[in-house]
Amino acid sequence: MRRGVLARFADRLPLTARTPTLTLGEGDTPLIAAPRLAREIGCRFLWLKFEGQNPTGSFKDRGMVLAIAKAVEDGATAAVCASTGNTSASAAAYCAVIGIACRVVVPDGKVALGKLAQAVAHGARIVVLRGNFDEALIAVRAIAKKTGIALVNSVNPYRIEGQKTAAFEIIETLGHAPDGLALPVGNAGNITAYWKGFREAGTKPVLYGIQAAGAAPLVLGTPVAHPETIATAIRIGNPASWAGAVAARDESGGLFGKVTDDQIIEAYRMLASGAGVFCEPASAAPVAGLLQLSRAQPGRFAGQELVAVLTGHGLKDPQTAIGSAPPLGAVVAPGDLEEALR
Ligand SMILES: *Cc1c(COP(=O)(O)O)cnc(C)c1O
Repeated sequence: MRRGVLARFADRLPLTARTPTLTLGEGDTPLIAAPRLAREIGCRFLWLKFEGQNPTGSFKDRGMVLAIAKAVEDGATAAVCASTGNTSASAAAYCAVIGIACRVVVPDGKVALGKLAQAVAHGARIVVLRGNFDEALIAVRAIAKKTGIALVNSVNPYRIEGQKTAAFEIIETLGHAPDGLALPVGNAGNITAYWKGFREAGTKPVLYGIQAAGAAPLVLGTPVAHPETIATAIRIGNPASWAGAVAARDESGGLFGKVTDDQIIEAYRMLASGAGVFCEPASAAPVAGLLQLSRAQPGRFAGQELVAVLTGHGLKDPQTAIGSAPPLGAVVAPGDLEEALR
């Protein structure tokens, strides 16, 4: 049974006797072996930490369960977030189960359809803002401060606390930390959280923070005013947890890398059709990053055990799945079916 992050890691989270019990069964996601990709990358093992198996289909649930529980503990009756999609889907679900109002602000035009569907289904009030994610976050931070509505973006420290549990699970499952861990980086809360978790467990894997080429402020060392990428979850130009990401890179001896949308789609297809794991485009970025690093320097990962964090489920973004697929082909009559299936 999935007990949920709060129960399972109670001794390592900032819970009190007054923290409400809250879970949708988040966490306990699998580490899936990807031997073909491991051969391609030239490492000994590649494990996919498939966070798409969380209740709302992304890792956001790990931190959201704690953020919403603490908000209610502190008397909040409403929560708000700016979101590229998954944060709003997760916030909406946890607000629904605990019974508080949820408000989400999404940038216009660039939110994957599955994520919006979730926020709508869970009863969140959705406001579409003309502008990008960074502008939406600035706006909701100001509103939360003024109104006292609980802000549940990853600038909320409880989000980071909850998300660090993924590092604990990896260590538990493998029996040790991997040599390296690659993950997509957008607002940089998750790389900050993983590093916190690994450090608290006394481990020090090398972290590879992968950004999209059109939204790579950490690689460039300066904010990007107009971030662009097919990987909408990481279409962020000025990460709120910038300092945390830089510390994670430096202390782990890791790096930030950037991959083009074409590389992301290549990895996305390899994952789905070669490893059997359907993730959303942003989640394919770390695999694209590892492929790029190994192609540039063959033998770089020889003998190593690596983990790639697949942050969200492929069903989140059906448009990209269909849009990047070969055409479905002609419609056939029943009499031609046998021939068509040959
Ligand atoms: C939120 C999100 C990211 C980026 O995580 P940050 O903590 O903002 O760096 C990556 N992938 C998916 C699927 C996400 O939902």
